[in-house]
Amino acid sequence: MTSIEDGAGAFLEIDLDAIATNWRLLSARHVSGPVAGVVKADGYGLGAREVAARLYREGCRHFFVALLTEALAIRALLPGAMLAVLSGPLPGSEPAYRAHGITPVLGALAEIDAWRESGGGSALLHVDTGMNRLGLPEAELATLAARPARLAGIETRWVMTPLVAAELPEDPANAAQRARFAAACAALPPAPRSLANSSGLFLGADFASDLARPGAALYGINPTPGQPNPMRPVVRLWARVLQIRDVPEGEGVGYNATWRAKRPSRIATAGIGYADGWHRSLSNRGGAVFDGRPVPLVGRVSMDLTTYDVTDHPGISAGDRLELIGPSCTPDAVAAEAGTNGYEVLTSLGRRFQRLYRGA
Ligand SMILES: *Cc1c(COP(=O)(O)O)cnc(C)c1O
Repeated sequence: MTSIEDGAGAFLEIDLDAIATNWRLLSARHVSGPVAGVVKADGYGLGAREVAARLYREGCRHFFVALLTEALAIRALLPGAMLAVLSGPLPGSEPAYRAHGITPVLGALAEIDAWRESGGGSALLHVDTGMNRLGLPEAELATLAARPARLAGIETRWVMTPLVAAELPEDPANAAQRARFAAACAALPPAPRSLANSSGLFLGADFASDLARPGAALYGINPTPGQPNPMRPVVRLWARVLQIRDVPEGEGVGYNATWRAKRPSRIATAGIGYADGWHRSLSNRGGAVFDGRPVPLVGRVSMDLTTYDVTDHPGISAGDRLELIGPSCTPDAVAAEAGTNGYEVLTSLGRRFQRLYRGA
């Protein structure tokens, strides 16, 4: 058993070997081209440095982050690998990209012009096929198609687009985006293509490309919601029971007494709260697992503390650990209780946890 040391209220175990296994599983699916590792948002909250280094050791040679600062933080760990910044270069940042060998993702004519004028070189082109956030919109794409000289000196490593609804295989947006992406690529000078995210890898051969870009599935989030999860679980989270008390029938627990004891109850208070990313929307919902049995969460989740009804668990005492995320309480399941998705559960995971990496 691992102990919670250093006075931490909660303990996070991240299985880097499982992340590497997930990358290999996805690589085996995507026979048309390599599979990148998306490690933005600090590796979906699990540690970009640790995750990127482990994927690199496994043979991954393409990485994506959202921001230049994120790329700078891991560049030195990934010699020779492509490291691309999805959000596009801010004006004036081009020299930093070049100095550190970071690949920009160009998603506007202005970004293309700035990259060319600053010296050109490797880049990805991001085309908008329906997300309407970033990426070349149709009008700019037409301008570029009519004037390919604007790409002079730019080596387009990949043309890419993000899928709007890949986790919903029946959503007509998928086929529409695939058609728009094919048309966009046909209008541009020939270049390799990058299409699928995690769920896109499960949409079938039509969504195969020259480079897949999974994030969530690497971290064990189910890329096929509603179906069995093909990925390995990666994260375990425990919170320490700080105190247990008897609460008489009729008494409230926590702020605003949103839960009241309907019988004489035993309440365990654990050292985790919304400041640790244990969402306040979990108040009176969901729970933990102890000895393989569910323990209901009662009352408000507060900043540092969460309370559980352990009346039916006489074996739990102060110092014990309740399992909050694990094989039987997955990030997806926690997300369903919290009214969000597994991505937000992972990227919210706090900085106060004691962290242990397996397979580093
Ligand atoms: C975050 C992101 C991905 C990874 O998506 P997942 O659903 O986590 O696999 C892929 N492509 C782009 C453009 C992204 O922003």
